[in-house]
Amino acid sequence: PKSRVKYTPEGDAHFSEDFVQKVADHYSARTNQTLEEREASPIIHLKKLNNWIKSVLVQLYARRGDAVLDLACGKGGDLIKWDKAKIGYYVGIDIAEGSIEDCRTRYNGDADHHQRRKKFSFPARLICGDCYEVRLDKVLADDAPFDICSCQFALHYSWSTEARARRALANVSALLRPGGTFIGTMPDANVIIKKLREAEELVFGNSVYWIRFDEDYSEKKFKSSSPYGIKYKFHLEDAVDCPEWIVPFNIFKSLAEEYDLELVFVKNAHEFVHEYLKKPEYIDLMRRLGALGDGNQDQSTLSPDEWEVAYLYLAFVLKKRGQPDRM
Ligand code: SAM
Repeated sequence: PKSRVKYTPEGDAHFSEDFVQKVADHYSARTNQTLEEREASPIIHLKKLNNWIKSVLVQLYARRGDAVLDLACGKGGDLIKWDKAKIGYYVGIDIAEGSIEDCRTRYNGDADHHQRRKKFSFPARLICGDCYEVRLDKVLADDAPFDICSCQFALHYSWSTEARARRALANVSALLRPGGTFIGTMPDANVIIKKLREAEELVFGNSVYWIRFDEDYSEKKFKSSSPYGIKYKFHLEDAVDCPEWIVPFNIFKSLAEEYDLELVFVKNAHEFVHEYLKKPEYIDLMRRLGALGDGNQDQSTLSPDEWEVAYLYLAFVLKKRGQPDRM
C-alpha cells in the first residue's frame, strides 16, 4: 500500500527533531494557572467542552481495574477522569519535562491549588519521553499489557515523518492487550483543509485562533506528495502556539490497520457533542463541568469563535484486533 512507501528525504530527521524540540519547549514553558486565571481564559468554555469530550470517552470505555496508558498526558488533566472510572493502574508519558513535573505534583496532591482532594486510588508511573520516537514496549515491558491507551489532543505531533507516525501506532499496538481500546482526540484534517481552501490565503482563523500554512504549501503538492510532514503553525489563545502536522484520517486509518488497530468510530467534535449531549448522564456531566448554562442543551456557553475551534477537532476510537483475555 501507498502508506508503506518511505517519502521522507534523507536529512529530514534533523529537520524534524528541531520541531519536536519546539513542541516540547512550548508545552514545558506553560506554567500551571491558578483557578482564577483559568476561569478568566478567553477559551475557558472550550477547555471545559474538551474536558467533557474526554470524560465521555473515558466513561464509554474505561472499566473498573483497567490498566491505562496515557500518551502525551501533559500536566495530568485527565487523572481525575481516570480516578472516577476506578481504574487500577496508570502510566503517563509526556515529552515536556515541565508538564510531567506538574503531573507528578498533581498526582501527589501537594501544593496544587486546583484540587484539595483525597489521593488518587490507583498507582501511577509518570515518565518524561518522546512517545513517537522511543520503543515503549521496551520501556514498559513490566507494565504491559494495557486495557486502554489514550492520546488526547496530541497524536498529530507524531505526523512530522512517516517513521514517527509508525512508531506511535506500533507503540500503541504493542502495549494494548488483544481487544484493548485506543481512544483519542486530534485535529480534523478535513475541516482544516476545507477552511484553508475557503480562505484563499495560507492563513485563517478568528479572535481566539489562527492557522498558518508554510509558504511552500500548495494544494497540488498536498494531493501528490507525502501525507506526512504537512506542517502548519497553530495558535490558540491561552493554550497552543507551535508547529503541528496534518493527519489525513484515511491514511491514519489504513496505517492503524497495519498495526492491528481497527476503527470503531471517528466523529468530528460537533457531531460528538450533538450525539452524546442527547443522553441525560452526559448532559449532567456537561453541567457539572460548567460547560453548559442552566437549562440549555446546546453549546450556548461557548462563544461562536470557541465553537468554531471545537469544530477543528475529532474524536476517535480504535480497537486492537484479537480476542479479549478477560471479560
Ligand atoms: N493529553 C493532555 C490533555 O489532553 O490535557 C495534553 C494535551 S497538549 C494539547 C499536547 C501534549 O502533547 C503536550 O503535553 C506535549 O508536551 C505532548 N507531546 C507532544 N509531542 C510529544 C511526544 N513526541 N511525546 C510525548 N508527548 C508529546
